[in-house]
Amino acid sequence: MSNSTDSTEPAKKSNFIHIQIEQDIENGKNRGRVHTRFPPEPNGYLHIGHAKSICLNFGTAEKYGGKCNLRFDDTNPTKEEMEYVESIQKDIHWLGFDWEDRMYFASDYFEKLHDFAIRLIKEGKAYVDDQDAETISQQKGTPTRPGMESPFRNRSSEENLDLFQRMTAGEFEEGSRVLRAKITMSSPNMHMRDPILYRILKAHHHRTGDKWCVYPMYDFAHGQSDFWEGITHSICTLEFEVHRPLYDWFVDQLQESDYRPRQIEFARLNLTYTVMSKRKLLELVKDKYVNGWDDPRMPTLSGLRRRGFTPESIRNFSDRIGVTKVDGMIDVSLLEHSLREHLNKTAQRVMGVLDPLKVVITNYPEGLEEELGAINNPEDENMGSRKVQFSREIYIERDDFMENPPRKFFRLAPGREVRLRYAYFITCNEVIKNEKGEITELHCTYDPASKGGNSPDGRKVKATLHWVSAKHAVKSEVRLYDRLFNDEDPAGHPDIDFKEFLNPDSLKILPDCYLEPFVKDAKPLDHFQFERLGYFNLDYDSTPGKPIFNRTVPLRDSWVKMKNNS
Ligand code: ATP
Ligand code: MG
Repeated sequence: MSNSTDSTEPAKKSNFIHIQIEQDIENGKNRGRVHTRFPPEPNGYLHIGHAKSICLNFGTAEKYGGKCNLRFDDTNPTKEEMEYVESIQKDIHWLGFDWEDRMYFASDYFEKLHDFAIRLIKEGKAYVDDQDAETISQQKGTPTRPGMESPFRNRSSEENLDLFQRMTAGEFEEGSRVLRAKITMSSPNMHMRDPILYRILKAHHHRTGDKWCVYPMYDFAHGQSDFWEGITHSICTLEFEVHRPLYDWFVDQLQESDYRPRQIEFARLNLTYTVMSKRKLLELVKDKYVNGWDDPRMPTLSGLRRRGFTPESIRNFSDRIGVTKVDGMIDVSLLEHSLREHLNKTAQRVMGVLDPLKVVITNYPEGLEEELGAINNPEDENMGSRKVQFSREIYIERDDFMENPPRKFFRLAPGREVRLRYAYFITCNEVIKNEKGEITELHCTYDPASKGGNSPDGRKVKATLHWVSAKHAVKSEVRLYDRLFNDEDPAGHPDIDFKEFLNPDSLKILPDCYLEPFVKDAKPLDHFQFERLGYFNLDYDSTPGKPIFNRTVPLRDSWVKMKNNS
């Protein structure tokens, strides 16, 4: 098949960014160098949207034999923590990318940025404004109406220098003064209207400690950091397009060389049934709507990893959705499709019963045990086979039996014969109930001639059921997850809080499930296909006597269905 969605290997599709880079290479720009960077702010855990940016930045460097830096844009000490710095590194490595020895921090440049600010003051290009943030923002104007000049705009360089040095020394209160660039108050681009360069923050910084009382604004740090690192292509999301003239203005004032990082903007990833803002995700964690950043319902990379997503599936997804200049919404079922495609090829098969109903095979000799052959993965014969224990008492799935089956129900029912996968044909003879009328077990007989699940005489059965031997199975907890939100765009309703759309049934815990015993030896994150049910992985919460499985995704692929119907 030539359909690209059938490939597990990323197709390395080209995109408008790559076309621009190829032109730059052809024109000998930066002597053909390609150097990108992924610049997270360490104020939260990475999510699937960041994965798109990571795949794009690291993937682009890989494609053109270039380099990609990891740079933490840590200019805001009040929201940043080491925990985030560590989790971000772990997630990028997990995705399969490496920054080698090029891990940087915007805070590495605090000294240089401060020197640069002093230079701007001396050159009459920056001034200290004694007004508070609210007043400054009221004077900003609108895109069609020019702003008002600050009464402090025309201070002398000497006075500005003195004030800025005293700001730096911690002499003034937070919020009492800022350093602003002296550019213009009338540009239609609001970002050019005397933007703030430094603010007073008497906060402890996760790397520089208490050294600084003034911190550069993100906009004052970002472009120069790119410049100092020799970034050739500064790939970022669309909202930064209007910041580009400002970044260029700063680097122009540096007057260090003619080289300029080229900023290229692309549309951020939005996924249905998901919120992607770090502030909202933090709220879910802090207020305990979920069990931490790595809750398997979270769109964070740590959540997806724990849920059972593989790096390959995320990279493949990222490649499939491509890169565009237009904001859009991607169906989350495409992400799940990429995962199923990968797990179908790699997941060990196992039989497991989530909602057990006991079946006694009355004509099977008491005490007899057999080992029957089972295939580990029909998609990959190198994965070999295993033995499954069979005995007189087994469990089947409760909903695989109906006492009064409707016409289209072909599974087990009184008097009906079905196949037990890899085992035997069985026929149901008797339904045992308790005093409340609930079915407690079934009595069946088996046909010894159907060993291996093969028909002895060509007679057909309409259903094949999975099962486990009651005596051998290991009892496990299974956690079933559904979408965290029951609205396609939970953050997209201007008057409704996104939390109103939390799905109350997003987690269901099944305490008494039974699985083939070999899963006892699984390691956290090992994934399995439970036959007929879906993909599952072992959770970190498991203990030696008590395995806990997460359902990664059910088997049914709504993406393929959607595609076929369209
Ligand atoms: P914040 O609002 O805190 O800045 P952010 O989502 O922009 O949040 P950053 O840490 O600044 O987070 O993001 C790091 C990089 O990832 C940036 O280059 C940003 O453009 C990119 N990025 C963030 N969200 C997405 C997304 N949904 N799709 C693609 N790229 C994204
Ligand atoms: Mg950002």
